[in-house]
Amino acid sequence: MRLKGKTAAVTGAGSGIGKACALRLAQEGANVLAIDLDGASAEKTAEQIRKAGGRADAAAADISEKEAVMAVAEKAAKCFRSLDIWVNCAGISVIQPFLAEDSEQVWDQTMRVNLKGTFLCCQAAVKGMLGHGGSIINFSSQSGKKGTNQYAAYCASKFGIRGLTQSIAAEFAEENIRVNCICPGVILTPMWDKQVNDYAKKKHITPEEVMPRFKENIPLGRLCTYQDVTNLVLFLASKDSEYMTGQSLNLTGGACTY
Ligand code: NAD
Repeated sequence: MRLKGKTAAVTGAGSGIGKACALRLAQEGANVLAIDLDGASAEKTAEQIRKAGGRADAAAADISEKEAVMAVAEKAAKCFRSLDIWVNCAGISVIQPFLAEDSEQVWDQTMRVNLKGTFLCCQAAVKGMLGHGGSIINFSSQSGKKGTNQYAAYCASKFGIRGLTQSIAAEFAEENIRVNCICPGVILTPMWDKQVNDYAKKKHITPEEVMPRFKENIPLGRLCTYQDVTNLVLFLASKDSEYMTGQSLNLTGGACTY
């Protein structure tokens, strides 16, 4: 067990990548606080960890609300003695034409959740790690490396997360608080269930053609899996990556090389 005695907070832990991260960190011995807007789903993740013999608690919070994030951080401090790892998975994604009527609303909401939410959670994480150090892992995307059509708000928010990561990494390196971010390609999660039709529409293909089309453009020939992403999260959370901070790591099967 590589994280025995460590405490990890994971946002978006009720679904998809966040849930997979919470389960994997717990398997490696970490105490986990599962955070999600959907408190019931976060509680399910915590329950699954406890049933498997781990230590976990859950909290409902909207990461774009400062008070909610601070309350969650206090809960983490109360439940478990220290805060060592914070994984920011919570996020939203909307595919829509740039000139769509409600594009401003989508822009505001995407920035609010993806960028401001990550900013607020990083503040809470840093406060909890001052004095003993820790590892913060943010989620950008391959869309944080390359802008694509009908994805302005999402791409802008994910580019922003890389800048935020670098800035905080530079500011808190001397406190031994490491901050890195992961830029995955496509992983089949509930996020894709929600947007596959919009993606198909923008590419003028059927929803069934979407994933094979992605695969064709991935040199390693397959989509990213939960195992791939949690392997990298575990590496960044553990001492194995102790000389790494401020990095934005592609996890794209070779599809994105910049
Ligand atoms: P998902 O939709 O399965 O899970 C996202 C979770 O975040 C949900 O449980 C949701 O309730 C929670 N959430 C949303 N808004 C929130 C808020 N305001 N406060 C707290 N929680 C909130 O998505 P996923 O695919 O697991 O994505 C996780 C992260 O990975 C996201 O940041 C996403 O942008 C990023 N990402 C995903 C992919 C992919 O292909 N799935 C690729 C690259 C990056």
